[in-house]
Amino acid sequence: MKNNKTIVVKLGTSVLTGNGYHLDTRHMVELVRQCALMMEQGHKIILVSSGAIAAGRSQLVNHKSDLEYDKDVLAAVGQSNLIQTWQTLFNLYNIPVGQMLLTRADLEDRERYLRAKHTLNSLINHNILPIVNENDAVCIEEIKVGDNDNLSALTAILAKADELYLLTDQSGLFSCDPRKNKDAELISTVSKIDNKLKSIAGGSGSDVGTGGMATKLQAAEIATRSGVEVIIAKGREPNIITDLVNEKTVGTRFKVMDDIVEGRKQWILAGPTALGSVIVDDGAQNALLNKGSSLLAKGVLSIKGEFNSSSLIEIKNLNDKTIAKGITSYNSVELQKIKGLHSEDIKKELGFINGTTIIHRDDLVVIEN
Ligand code: GLU
Repeated sequence: MKNNKTIVVKLGTSVLTGNGYHLDTRHMVELVRQCALMMEQGHKIILVSSGAIAAGRSQLVNHKSDLEYDKDVLAAVGQSNLIQTWQTLFNLYNIPVGQMLLTRADLEDRERYLRAKHTLNSLINHNILPIVNENDAVCIEEIKVGDNDNLSALTAILAKADELYLLTDQSGLFSCDPRKNKDAELISTVSKIDNKLKSIAGGSGSDVGTGGMATKLQAAEIATRSGVEVIIAKGREPNIITDLVNEKTVGTRFKVMDDIVEGRKQWILAGPTALGSVIVDDGAQNALLNKGSSLLAKGVLSIKGEFNSSSLIEIKNLNDKTIAKGITSYNSVELQKIKGLHSEDIKKELGFINGTTIIHRDDLVVIEN
């Protein structure tokens, strides 16, 4: 076992409140004790902590106001209460904490992505425990990651973590819904996240959080593809964090995928929303999926959306299914002119050349079925 792992621990609202409506500090201090013990042994820990909205609600319960509170108000009040609580508890162990509030927009822009990566890594290198949450107070739907499962996967990628623990109110992923079916069996290891598994995961689970098994599976898919092992386990189980770090068999463990992606490709996979797409012919599809090729103008049949060069776009097959994502070297107007052409004719058509490929293999990630 590695004795200096970097681990992201995602704590769902249900874990922090015990499915109640206020922060359960008795349980939080227990989680802090385990983190402190693991840090003493040389591991680096990052928390992705939910609970801001729940904390805000409990803070405001006796506050006189005729108006209903929106989630951004609850989050603004609750986030400060949440971080203050963590800070007080980690102080007991002399561990400084640093708060990072992120939105999808921070991760979509490559400069900001690299900045966030730098800050997160500086914190852990100084033995400061980062506590990450979505910046719900300023976050509108369009720029939200939306749930802390996916946010924790992105955090794990930023930190190049070894492991991500998604701690929740369930013991792991079951063969069917354990709340409805007593024959449900815990799936202890997952080597590949396929459509069958996705259909088992279904929708949101508890009443207090945002995520459910479906978002946990999305997170597991992104993280394992980037080389991070993921475990879903019950966050109120005694010694859960220390047991997981010590590799005891608990919860559902998602193994790292065979075809992991590195660096810029992780950003492609995790970060931005595609600004447009190209539809490619069968020959190009085969070359992309089976031969490790780049995308050439010759295989492009049509273009959707308006985008610049250096934008992230999707590559779709003739059935409109996304088979890859990548960073285009040509904008949508240029692509309209050069689609179907041989690479050597690009210069003749446009008067310049940005490279012989539309999307180079180094800037492209194939999407699993
Ligand atoms: N950011 C939300 C909060 O702190 C939680 C989102 C989630 O649990 O997925 O309340």
